[in-house]
Amino acid sequence: MEELIPKIGLEIHLELQTKTKLFCPCKNDPEETEPNRNICEICTGQPGVLPVLNKQAVIYAYSLAKALKMKVNYKSEFARKNYFYPDLPKNYQISQYEYPLGEQGIFYLVRENLEKKVRIRRIHLEEDTGRNLHFGNYSLVDFNRSGVPLIEIVTEPDLRSAEEVEIFAEELVLLIRHLGISSADAEKGQIRFEANVSLAPGESLGTKVEIKNINKIKSLVEAVKYEIGRQKELILKGEKIVQETRGYDENKKITFSQRWKEEAEDYRYFPEPDLPPLIIDEEIEKNALYVETPGEIKMRFKKEYGLDYKFSQILVLEKERVYFFEETLSELRKLLSDPDLSLKLLINFFINDFIGFLEKYGLEIRRENITPHEFAHLLYLYSQNKISSKIVKEALELGIKGEMKVEDVIKEKEMISDAEVLDKIIEEVIKEFPQSVEDYIKGEEKALEFLIGQVMKKTKGRAEPNLTRQIILEKISHAK
Ligand SMILES: [Zn+2]
Repeated sequence: MEELIPKIGLEIHLELQTKTKLFCPCKNDPEETEPNRNICEICTGQPGVLPVLNKQAVIYAYSLAKALKMKVNYKSEFARKNYFYPDLPKNYQISQYEYPLGEQGIFYLVRENLEKKVRIRRIHLEEDTGRNLHFGNYSLVDFNRSGVPLIEIVTEPDLRSAEEVEIFAEELVLLIRHLGISSADAEKGQIRFEANVSLAPGESLGTKVEIKNINKIKSLVEAVKYEIGRQKELILKGEKIVQETRGYDENKKITFSQRWKEEAEDYRYFPEPDLPPLIIDEEIEKNALYVETPGEIKMRFKKEYGLDYKFSQILVLEKERVYFFEETLSELRKLLSDPDLSLKLLINFFINDFIGFLEKYGLEIRRENITPHEFAHLLYLYSQNKISSKIVKEALELGIKGEMKVEDVIKEKEMISDAEVLDKIIEEVIKEFPQSVEDYIKGEEKALEFLIGQVMKKTKGRAEPNLTRQIILEKISHAK
């Protein structure tokens, strides 16, 4: 039998972090814990009300479509998805069906041993539903979430393993955070996953099983892994895979049949009569956010700076790290004429020290504490032997914590390599310890170290050691 290859597609629901809901002025607040605080007649589906579209949500969705290199439908439409459920008071959800906002996108997965293009079938805007809360023998409904803007992202079945699913989900979350359209915090339900899994030889697709309602990337990966194993076993036994929807039990770590059949026609989609067509106008284009995806950044950094993916993976974990790295490099290259040396210096101190300190103290980069220019200046002084690597690290640590400005650390710690300044200090030391000078002349090597030590003491360790030694020797040879 030919090898069975998994074909996995994902459907992701992402809550957007707009100030207000998608069709009403209610607050969109994922932190609200008191039920039914942020509700009005629109998001609770009272008769006779009219939805008004939140433009910010459109700007966010358009920004994601552009980042995913999608074909944007500049005129799309909203549709009613009809079904009955207690958390959906209108008995329909306003979504997009035939004409989504974006189609045919591409997302690059780039990791140490992976470079892969995943096709994105579509993204569309829709409203979230409320939430049913179950208490023993009765249930209550909380409508705080009802009408919160969602983007649904649907991929083609291009993923081939649970590992690729994990990387896709992680990289997508990074992109969403770089765009700043949502925190994509799974714990708060801001991102939810569904996976469709089939197994077949070569490039062909097998019978598709959908796994619904997964709330964490970890569970998504486990569910997909389990489902691949389950299907493989059945196929090898000669049994048929049933096309069905399955749930995932986080405790037992298994998928289970939910035995309902769902077809698009069941929803009786039709165009939403209460909303005009969704038009992407100049204002939306002007206010959209345009970013590189984490994969694109990694590929560019490899090409431009020769950085390996393991290194740049640490950078893309936060957009500000990427910006800070590139800005510091460009500042340093202005100070040092050697661009390769600049890059080497920055790489040496960026991950272990700069990011190391940030992570040690659980901090984010704060430019009011340290700027790329200050970082570059530190590295420049280091390259000129004006400060030691110990001082670079100390200045970075104090700067990141906001305890001391980098320039003050330098002022305090910068090595004295000004011969005139050192000359005066050494003159004093020689006058204070004539015996040591004589001892050295008699051949006692240790006496020289003693004199250097005294200069260090007077300068609090800031005297440049080689120059200090040289000046002392010159003075002693004159004294002979
Ligand atoms: Zn409302």
